[in-house]
Amino acid sequence: MTDAEPRPAADLPATRHLAPDLFAGSTVAVTGGGTGLGLEISRALAALGATVCVASRSAEHHRALLDEAKERGWTVESATIDVRESSTIRAWADDLVERHGRVDALVNNAAGNFVWPAERMSDKAWRAVIGIALDGAFYCAREFGKRMIADGGGGQILNVLATYAWTGMPGVVHSAAAKAGMLAVTRTLAVEWAKHGVRVNAIAPGPFESDGAERNLWPDDAVREHIVKNIPLGRFASASEVAGQAAYLLSPACAYITGECLVMDGGAWLGKGFWPEGVRLERKR
Ligand code: NAP
Repeated sequence: MTDAEPRPAADLPATRHLAPDLFAGSTVAVTGGGTGLGLEISRALAALGATVCVASRSAEHHRALLDEAKERGWTVESATIDVRESSTIRAWADDLVERHGRVDALVNNAAGNFVWPAERMSDKAWRAVIGIALDGAFYCAREFGKRMIADGGGGQILNVLATYAWTGMPGVVHSAAAKAGMLAVTRTLAVEWAKHGVRVNAIAPGPFESDGAERNLWPDDAVREHIVKNIPLGRFASASEVAGQAAYLLSPACAYITGECLVMDGGAWLGKGFWPEGVRLERKR
């Protein structure tokens, strides 16, 4: 394709209802931005005009996004980083501020998870998940938040949680604890940093399609069907659909929202009542 030819606009479910230049001029850092939900958030923000800087451990995971960005004319860059290393996060944040002037938003999406019974969970397994999803997410919030405060221009932090932050979930005590911790971090920083114009929000998706989640959480059709049965809307979300809500929360339409967690789970976390379906509610007089 030559520069003179118009590039095809990206028709993403995540961006369909949002103004095409919504994030023009903004720089956004996305952890774990090369796969799954992080990838869809990165694609959505880049398609809406943001300069997107993704970071995770594997450069290979960034390849597809960088290739698509080149093809579509998006501004995307990547860094190879482990969010558990606070000095690396500090250096990444410094580098982005130096080259882009400021970072307007951080999306704290990176996480690790695997199903394991709590009574047999080793210290190492516990630390591995807490280290990424709680320590790493806090290090990123602290380093980017600090620079937003110093800059004086405000900013935003969006944390990716899960509904088991408050319901709990057997088999993932480490991840549930990390997400509950990040819910507390979200609400605490929202109040602490409001005076600096820094909004801090979260999204709590229910199950959505991603290779990582499929491998770890619903490895076969029977488990998958069982999960879907418990979702009132009767289906998984797509990662792009969830990314659309992340973009909405980051947008000026939500300028008066801080400390909030937007649940997107098709009603899955809600109580289902006492009675099996068809009993009592549909009884004849
Ligand atoms: P995913 O594709 O496995 O995404 C996880 C990302 O985190 C990967 O890009 C990975 O990249 C990165 N990452 C892992 N460890 C890292 C580390 N130490 N440092 C830097 N980056 C690291 O899974 P996903 O399903 O899209 O999950 C995205 C987010 O949604 C997570 O916060 C997850 O808890 C949340 N969530 C998912 C679901 C679901 O059903 N899928 C439901 C609720 C919430 P590298 O391997 O390159 O490091």
